[in-house]
Amino acid sequence: MPRRKPPEAVDPGEEPPAPPPLVPGVARALSPLVRRIVAPNPGLMTGPGTNTYLVGIDEIAVIDPGPDAAEHLDAIAGCGGDRIRWIVCTHTHPDHSPGAAGLKARTGAEVMAWDSRDGLEVDQKIKGGFRIEATEFRLLAVHTPGHASNHLCFLLEEEHMLFSGDHIMQGSTVVISPPDGNMTQYLESLAAVRAIRLRSIAPGHGHLIEDPKAAIDDYVAHRLAREQQILALLVEAGTSKIDDLVEVIYVDVNRELHPVAKRTVHAHLVKLAKEGKVKGRSVDGKWSAI
Ligand SMILES: [Zn+2]
Repeated sequence: MPRRKPPEAVDPGEEPPAPPPLVPGVARALSPLVRRIVAPNPGLMTGPGTNTYLVGIDEIAVIDPGPDAAEHLDAIAGCGGDRIRWIVCTHTHPDHSPGAAGLKARTGAEVMAWDSRDGLEVDQKIKGGFRIEATEFRLLAVHTPGHASNHLCFLLEEEHMLFSGDHIMQGSTVVISPPDGNMTQYLESLAAVRAIRLRSIAPGHGHLIEDPKAAIDDYVAHRLAREQQILALLVEAGTSKIDDLVEVIYVDVNRELHPVAKRTVHAHLVKLAKEGKVKGRSVDGKWSAI
């Protein structure tokens, strides 16, 4: 049986045809109930930009309004108008939720998220198990801490489509930045999502993922391989700083991403420390194998 490739492996001969590019400002139908508008915020951390999803036709829930960019909010409002009843945020990072207030002003919709944080003011706090019950669809919140402690995914039950925010992205791995980011919880949340019957994953960045279980398995395998690599390097070195580990592990990665990689290595080390395999504490301090 062929082994599944890790996410960064490139084998153009086996890739399926590329989906059409993600163009900001243009609404694209992904299914009978779902449309996507990409925000005009492409970048190192956001890929082609943040995906905003509109779920429903007569009554609409907007998932992740994105940054507070007038042209983007106008495009969402132009697409959904006063049929937009709910604005839900997967989490409160700056590329996902700041547009909520402006979209609420345009539509009168109710803003919902795990909590009010990072400048987001919610009308209703929601937990895992909360459901939006619209006439055409039901949207179930699933608490998925790891990338952020207040991260929620949303399951469109009629289409078995999961809106994954930054829990699962297409085309890149997810940054886990302690203390709000937590690698132990992240892996637990991936396992929780894997147990849901899914047909597709609509990520916060990148294209629709049509093979959810394989994508999640790749994510988990990548994390566990990285964890083993970090542990092996630390055993070999005895004691090391995260900066030195990053230099070795991310030798092929754009240096601009090293500060971000550093946070994720820290997250792995915090997990390993909790398991009694390493000791150390701070992001700039020394770490050693036990
Ligand atoms: Zn995020």
